[in-house]
Amino acid sequence: MPLSPSPSPKPTTQILGVRIDCLAKKDILARAHELFSSDWPHQIVTINSLLILEAQKNPRLKEICTKAALVVPDSSGIEWAAKSLGLPVPCKYPGIDLAYDLCSLAELENRNVFLLGAQPGVAEKAAKRLLTDFPYLTIGGMQDGFFDQRDVPHIAKSISDSNSRLVLVALGMPKQELWIYEHLCTLPPGIYIGVGGSFDIWS
Ligand code: UDP
Repeated sequence: MPLSPSPSPKPTTQILGVRIDCLAKKDILARAHELFSSDWPHQIVTINSLLILEAQKNPRLKEICTKAALVVPDSSGIEWAAKSLGLPVPCKYPGIDLAYDLCSLAELENRNVFLLGAQPGVAEKAAKRLLTDFPYLTIGGMQDGFFDQRDVPHIAKSISDSNSRLVLVALGMPKQELWIYEHLCTLPPGIYIGVGGSFDIWS
């Protein structure tokens, strides 16, 4: 269970018992800016309809959303559901766009980025693409997503040694959300966000 204090930003709503934040993009990035300077590791969840459905079967996913630093709606389905239920409508921010904007923020703020996940070689190609768009960004390290759980302490050390404050975790949904949550308290300070197939797309 993570130790980090991650107060929920307001306002939030709930769909089928799952927390979703209703923040404008600029407020999400302002919160990310704060999290970069925090001495704790923080989880950001990008949520779609599939994850809400998964959370009905797996209460751990509801817990993850409750405790996350941010829960950002990834898809139009969430907007549609909130509207239909008469709830405050969260503003959609696709996970791949958020991850890209976080890289831009990391470049601006001199924060290193660690790419964790995807098939061997994919993170390297994704990094190349990111460096084309953000030439002053530092990719602190990379690790493919087919590692043994016994390697987690070694990965945590690589993240720490790389001085990375943004860790993009591409293990697929919901594996990446569960993995981040399970290991958060043993990971170094920074933002940890699941990015699904983003490395494949960037590469
Ligand atoms: N992946 C991984 N380790 C695993 C399972 C999946 O690194 O144990 C990677 C996979 O190679 C791909 C990504 O996770 O790069 C999942 O992409 P997908 O588009 O399926 O995820 P989604 O966007 O649907 O969450």
